[in-house]
Amino acid sequence: MELTFDGIRLNSPFYNETHKDWKNKILRPFLDKEIIPNIDQWEKDGDIPLEYYKKAGEIGLFQLGYPEEYGGVSEGIDIFHTLITAEELARPGAGGFGAAFTVHSIALPPILNFGSDEMKKRVAPDVIKGTHHISLAITEPSGGSDVSNIKTTAKREGDHFVINGSKTFITGGLKANWFTTAVRTGGDGIGGVSLILIPADAKGVSRTSVGPKQGWLCSDTATIYFDNVKVPADQIIGKENQGFKIIVNNFNNERIGMAAAAVGYALAAFEEAASWAKLRKTFGKNLSQHQVIQHKFAEMYRRINSTAAYLEICAWNIQNGSSEAADISLLKVQATKMLELVAREAMQIMGGISYIRECKTERIYREVRVMAIGGGSEEIMMDLAARRMGL
Ligand SMILES: Cc1cc2nc3c(=O)[nH]c(=O)nc-3n(C[C@H](O)[C@H](O)[C@H](O)COP(=O)(O)OP(=O)(O)OC[C@H]3O[C@@H](n4cnc5c(N)ncnc54)[C@H](O)[C@@H]3O)c2cc1C
Repeated sequence: MELTFDGIRLNSPFYNETHKDWKNKILRPFLDKEIIPNIDQWEKDGDIPLEYYKKAGEIGLFQLGYPEEYGGVSEGIDIFHTLITAEELARPGAGGFGAAFTVHSIALPPILNFGSDEMKKRVAPDVIKGTHHISLAITEPSGGSDVSNIKTTAKREGDHFVINGSKTFITGGLKANWFTTAVRTGGDGIGGVSLILIPADAKGVSRTSVGPKQGWLCSDTATIYFDNVKVPADQIIGKENQGFKIIVNNFNNERIGMAAAAVGYALAAFEEAASWAKLRKTFGKNLSQHQVIQHKFAEMYRRINSTAAYLEICAWNIQNGSSEAADISLLKVQATKMLELVAREAMQIMGGISYIRECKTERIYREVRVMAIGGGSEEIMMDLAARRMGL
């Protein structure tokens, strides 16, 4: 067995030639040439230059799975292309890169599924090309777990909504041209929540960076302020006061993507630790020949591949219309706990070198917490699953 990113993955019946071609002939060469050589610099700069989004658009990264009429590619594309993309984008081991290049996948689907034709035509083609950017703005300074309790208001005045409030921790928020935003249009609770599209250049919108972060360094994370922002009433996504369901369903996509990314980071950490352990000598033999270290690899392998199998079955069920939200929630918990263990053990295997910034696993270790908190924290995921079990 080759102890590499691809080598330790089990054969899976879900991937065919189109998935393999997308990964090996298009995506991986693009990452190897354009992304990986630049990652360390982008992490130091805290940003990825805009030209790289355009380059990613040119290879079709943002098109995948979106309708052809808006410039997407949907024929022959299924959920496993999405999984393989999320896993591969994690291979450079920089969560900020993956977050920055996939944020459209959580902000655009509500528009394509529930927006007006005018909205779709105005927004989707440029996002899919990679020339314009869109972010999802749900979390507020008062909290992100309890979406039913959001405070940002959108009050109807004639044929407009006037929006007041703020959002925080918004991925790509400094670059975004639009925000797919959760607002309160009605009374308390889930029945008063709507989604609305807010242009970033609308009068009364301002934004700032949240400040230095533990990880996701090359992706910007912003706080957005809405001060009497006027948006035409037809910019509501879906029906007024019925946004909560759209948000919750959208979270399922995000969680599957994060689980696939967690598998990718874990594979990258495993590969780096394995190549180190085979060369490094301690007590007269290779590190990889010590039984304690071998057991760490066996444990990582077991957790990575069992998580990947759970991921693939959940994805297959989504594709076949029989998905269960409890499983998607528990899958996310499984994936981030697996990543936590793998990042830890890979660092232990590499010892001091793993503490140095140029080591990929050092960065992956710093990406663990945001994976376990963002997009639905472990506690909230367990709670949701337990409620679905009807205990
Ligand atoms: C780098 C980064 C990028 C992000 N990107 C986005 C984005 O693009 N768009 C967006 O909208 N949001 C984004 N988020 C926000 C993220 O989704 C929230 O941080 C997350 O949902 C948790 O919300 P919170 O931080 O407000 O924690 P809180 O809701 O305040 O919760 C704090 C802690 O308490 C726990 N907790 C809360 N309630 C309970 C309970 N009932 N029982 C047990 N435990 C509980 C939670 O699990 C959490 O660990 C991002 C966050 C980060 C760090």
